[in-house]
Amino acid sequence: MKLIFVSGGVISGLGKGITASSIGCLLKARGLSVSSVKIDPYLNIDAGTMNPFEHGEVYVLDDGGEVDLDLGNYERFMDLHLGRDNNITTGKVYKSVIENERRGEYLGKTVQIIPHITNEIKRRVTSVARKSGADVTIVELGGTVGDMESMPFLEAARQLSRDLGREENVLFVHTTLVPIMGSVGEEKSKPTQHSVHELMGMGIHPDIIVGRCSRELSEAAKAKIAMFCDVDEKAVISCPDARSIYEVPLILERQGVADYIVDRMRLGPMTSRRNMKDWELFLDHVLNPTKEIQIALVGKYTALADAYLSQLEALTHAGATRACHVKVKFIDSDELIHIDPAKLLGDVDGILIPGGFGVRGVEGKIAAAQYAREHQVPYLGVCLGFQVATIEIARHVLNLPKADSTEFEPGTPDPVIFIMPEQAGVTEMGGTMRLGAQAVKLKKDSKAAVLYGATDISERHRHRYEVNPAYIDRFEAAGWHFTGISEDSTKMEVGELKDHPYFVASQFHPEFKSRPNRPSPLHQGLVDAALAYHQARAGKH
Ligand code: GLN
Repeated sequence: MKLIFVSGGVISGLGKGITASSIGCLLKARGLSVSSVKIDPYLNIDAGTMNPFEHGEVYVLDDGGEVDLDLGNYERFMDLHLGRDNNITTGKVYKSVIENERRGEYLGKTVQIIPHITNEIKRRVTSVARKSGADVTIVELGGTVGDMESMPFLEAARQLSRDLGREENVLFVHTTLVPIMGSVGEEKSKPTQHSVHELMGMGIHPDIIVGRCSRELSEAAKAKIAMFCDVDEKAVISCPDARSIYEVPLILERQGVADYIVDRMRLGPMTSRRNMKDWELFLDHVLNPTKEIQIALVGKYTALADAYLSQLEALTHAGATRACHVKVKFIDSDELIHIDPAKLLGDVDGILIPGGFGVRGVEGKIAAAQYAREHQVPYLGVCLGFQVATIEIARHVLNLPKADSTEFEPGTPDPVIFIMPEQAGVTEMGGTMRLGAQAVKLKKDSKAAVLYGATDISERHRHRYEVNPAYIDRFEAAGWHFTGISEDSTKMEVGELKDHPYFVASQFHPEFKSRPNRPSPLHQGLVDAALAYHQARAGKH
């Protein structure tokens, strides 16, 4: 078993997750199998109940795990399918230890952070690494070295390096900040030195230091960091601000970080050849687009782009296949109630309504869907975006002005979106949702089937409410066709509007499985329709 621990120092938000993902991406390009674990030092059991406004999006895995958005980066950079166990939180660790204690499994011993909590951390990390069968497992230690919450995890990592053999089986990468004072000032290595000393105080000697800096680190700065932090000079890696997160693997590759790891962990020599051709091509399209379109993203957390991270990445992936830059115009859904939608949406080439919960902002989203339908603007609705499209069509095409979802208006006379009878009665938050990968059958020749190139697909879900089957005949007659349906044929999964260039919505979340060079088909459909719409408009002017 080989583990690479990635820790962070000085400040949070250094892009530790991107560094970890990029290292995995490079090892994978050498033919190694990789897996990854994210450690989150918070007490929540998982990210399912966390507010996207504070924490960014909740990412959903095949097995229904609701996890930190970093796992999305891992899946995208390393092209993996992870499970809920790949996200370890303080909450999960304490919960199992306390449950064991109640079952009397500690035989009357005093239960303590060391060894009981640390042993449970070690058990979880090694069990995920073993089950994955991967050559290397990358473990990202969330938080910043020095945080009280991170201590047990660092101690567990230290012990693991002793247990498994420091020489070739465990490697520590520490990411830090190297600030520059003044406009032409020098790089300051002191914060890095302090942070490394803190790490060493916990018994961990980093092997590689990744210095985040606004520009490339000078050789002098690298030499100084190497000297004072006691690492090889070639193990001090410069990570300047990148034009795209997808550039980071190549920035690291140029400095030989993967070769250094392969050498140190004795992973070569057959793995010294790399194949990054596809990645380079993808990046070239991201960095040097030949066209541009603008897509409106209508949501309620528009102040924090991370709240819709996977949507943005899916648009980047879909744009790249056409060498097209997708500019995203964030629109706060509440604004669409006070401001004429034409003012806010008149200049966009497509509209995307992502998932969401709760009544706030819903009326604005319905107005956006109506605008897209009436003005033939390409529209993609995801989850809540599918439900608001359905409500909009019920109100304005089926003439049911009070149609609604029972989530927003429990007393509505026309509950076109409701809780399936078998689900009703389950009220406890968390764990009551339809979660994770589920099979979907697409109608032959539907837009969705053409985009997927298949009629049997599997996509990830995270929702409670469904289209009410009592209204399906009326919707179909009005041109709102349900072209995707669950395997048991009871739940509507995809809607497509007749006589519209692209008005498609899904109950599932296609953004979570979007990858560089393998974009989500429905996002590709939106981008292609938006490109056509953009060109048609340019032709008119
Ligand atoms: N709130 C809706 C539901 O629970 C939609 C959920 C979502 O968009 N993820 O069904």
